[in-house]
Amino acid sequence: MSCRTYLKKHFVDTKNRFEVVRITKLVEDAVKESEIREGHVLVFTPHATAAVAVNEYEPRIVEDYITWIKRVFPPGAGWRHDEIDSNAYAHIASLVIGQSRVLPVSGGYVIRGTWQEILLLEFDGPRRRDIVIQVCGVQ
Ligand code: ZN
Repeated sequence: MSCRTYLKKHFVDTKNRFEVVRITKLVEDAVKESEIREGHVLVFTPHATAAVAVNEYEPRIVEDYITWIKRVFPPGAGWRHDEIDSNAYAHIASLVIGQSRVLPVSGGYVIRGTWQEILLLEFDGPRRRDIVIQVCGVQ
């Protein structure tokens, strides 16, 4: 018995300043390609103004996520970093929500709830956002 990891890199081109992109299929395809049946999958975005989260992807709730982000992390609220590039709110949203999530893999599939999608959250687009998917398992 040995441990094995499989790394897959993708990118997503976001089109708006705030955006929620469903990346579930990228993650599930990477798990399939890995041929790892039992373990976990890490989904990470190597950026300081974006985040990765797990939740429902339905147009109205997606709009609510963005409304919530703008309320909790208001752009232009006198942040010091805005003196440099006016995106302090995006750094703080990324800091709080987090740049990665880990999901269980069992039987070769990602375990998730019916309404749980894997989401890339853009706070300072449009930009090219890298996504790193690492599947870890016991073979
Ligand atoms: Zn910045």
